[in-house]
Amino acid sequence: MGKVYLTGAGPGDVELLTLKALRVLRQADVVVYDRLVNPEILEELKAGCECVYVGKEDKHHTLPQEQINMLLYEKALVHDVVVRLKGGDSVVFGRGAEEALFLASKGIVFEFIPGVTSAIAVPEMANIPITHRGTAVSFRVVTGYEAPQKGYAQLDWASFRQDETIVFLMGLHQLGHICTQLISIGKPKTYPVAVISRGTLPDEQVLVGTLEDIYEKAKDLPTPALIIVGKVVELKAQLERMA
Ligand code: SAH
Repeated sequence: MGKVYLTGAGPGDVELLTLKALRVLRQADVVVYDRLVNPEILEELKAGCECVYVGKEDKHHTLPQEQINMLLYEKALVHDVVVRLKGGDSVVFGRGAEEALFLASKGIVFEFIPGVTSAIAVPEMANIPITHRGTAVSFRVVTGYEAPQKGYAQLDWASFRQDETIVFLMGLHQLGHICTQLISIGKPKTYPVAVISRGTLPDEQVLVGTLEDIYEKAKDLPTPALIIVGKVVELKAQLERMA
């Protein structure tokens, strides 16, 4: 019986892959990967390695999660090294723990290999540091996708602090709603926001605005995209002016 490595591929730029991830990828007999994984990474695989794409488009799941779980289980029964490769880090809104629980329940050995999460690296590579002394005392990474009808938890908007950075993943389609909610809890309309589309990739786009105008500026950007809200966004212009 083999082992399944639940591995983060980083946000896009292949150089953000960890050495540990690269090592298991080079040893892999099978790689099961998602839409957010940069396919250039697959060039590192050994000859004969089987690649299975289980990509998920927004709201459209190519393979349902239960089938991905079963696929990993079945591959681990017949191969030594199975790599489950996901964008960013597998446990940051990546369902990595669901796959681990399933595998463990079937007696399959697994290991998490952390990846560089888009939540931190994408703003950082666009010169927006997620914390900065005196500007943001904490940060929160939240899902912008609220679906109470599916039983997902709703965001507790009132709990957002004034001096924290908020990163919304999966939120581009909710951008208007997010801005309206943040204004309704007392953030000024001029509060800084950035939207980063296809971060760390050659076609990256970064749009900076305010809670009032970012929706019109950024609503049609290509995905994946994340939203970062907070005073740290203002550091971008400052850093780039000095550079
Ligand atoms: N596990 C991933 C996040 C999965 S949720 C991680 O740790 O990065 C998917 C969301 O991540 C997307 O909707 C988008 O908000 C964000 N995302 C992932 N890669 C991105 C990129 N290169 N640029 C901008 N946002 C990205």
